[in-house]
Amino acid sequence: MSSYTCSTCGREFSHCALLRNHIKVHDNAVVDKALQKISEEEEQACEQLEEEEELSYDEQLEEEEELKQLKEEELSYDEQLEEEEEFGYQK
Ligand SMILES: [Zn+2]
Repeated sequence: MSSYTCSTCGREFSHCALLRNHIKVHDNAVVDKALQKISEEEEQACEQLEEEEELSYDEQLEEEEELKQLKEEELSYDEQLEEEEEFGYQK
């Protein structure tokens, strides 16, 4: 069980590569700066995962918490919602 949650829209992906690809749809400078930084870090973790199986559920939760914290430094929750509306909440 491994899932990567997009902290911008909440979609879940079974592979970190899919999440990285998905993040591009949120082509917003402020959010993406934070996410891309994380994505680069996760890219290394991702390669390790493919060999070493998956992170434990607890480790995953920690990573998601880090994502949220980083994002919250950039945007308040309300600002985030407004941006999702502007972008049409892509599915
Ligand atoms: Zn998303």
